[in-house]
Amino acid sequence: MPSILNADLHCHSVVSDGTLTPEALAERAAANGVELWALTDHDEIGGQHRAIAAARAHGMKYLTGAEISVTFAGETVHIVGLGFDPDDASLRAGLQATRGGRGARAQEMSEGLAKVGIVGAYEGALRFVGNPELISRTHFARFLVESGVCKDTPEVFRKYLTEGKPGYVPHRWAALKDAVRWITEAGGIAVVAHPGRYNFTANEEHALFTEFQAHGGRAIEVVTGSHAPAEYVEYAEKAVEYGFAASRGSDFHSPDESHMDLGKLPWLPGTLTPVWELLEDRIQ
Ligand code: AMP
Ligand code: MN
Ligand code: MN
Ligand code: MN
Repeated sequence: MPSILNADLHCHSVVSDGTLTPEALAERAAANGVELWALTDHDEIGGQHRAIAAARAHGMKYLTGAEISVTFAGETVHIVGLGFDPDDASLRAGLQATRGGRGARAQEMSEGLAKVGIVGAYEGALRFVGNPELISRTHFARFLVESGVCKDTPEVFRKYLTEGKPGYVPHRWAALKDAVRWITEAGGIAVVAHPGRYNFTANEEHALFTEFQAHGGRAIEVVTGSHAPAEYVEYAEKAVEYGFAASRGSDFHSPDESHMDLGKLPWLPGTLTPVWELLEDRIQ
């Protein structure tokens, strides 16, 4: 499989915080020329069998996917898993446990927002939720935009949903070691999602990469909708430096909110090992 392949290995459906169904995403990806696709819902693989069938119906190759929320050095880090067995019991249990705290967290977020005069945010966010086990900050953001409190979701995050803001509730997600183990023991490859998005110092990032690698992690995202173009270059260099394979994915959530559409990304630099080269026998 070549580096120049329209692979989109990161996006979200209504099974987490996207606005399209797995079937609608597959149709859009295929229309945009995607050849190899993965649906990577947050902490959830309930959409995988639908995505596999939809990819097949549109003639795309498919890798199973998930984006697992992890707490590392006090920050939330996202680990994408690709090519695992979606019926693996320990992966399923791990994801279920990771999702488990979201309901109580959402209630607390709503209480925080009520203190600054925004009432009914929990119920409001719930109206945007496609999967009752997966209420996320994105659903709150959609409610606050709909009710006219903010003009778009980035503004909601800036003013209400990030550290120190009224709707922010600290949360402990999965451990890095566990997330990587669930993925690899289910036959998949673990990938650090959008490494340019974390507020880490150089030392903290080095600790993340070396610990991730020590636990069996083998790839990082280089070309992603969550990176600025300068970060494609920066993380291409880091992939080489650490010996990581490289992944490519839009992180598409919604036609109205996402600035990078499915499959409409720059190519991976040809000097890198594409993550799909490590996953040839897992592609369906
Ligand atoms: P949660 O898992 O509930 O903490 O929600 C995280 C999700 O919120 C991410 O996956 C993004 O979809 C979204 N998100 C995080 N930060 C921002 C931001 N600054 N602007 C828009 N969406 C964001
Ligand atoms: Mn998201
Ligand atoms: Mn993410
Ligand atoms: Mn994502």
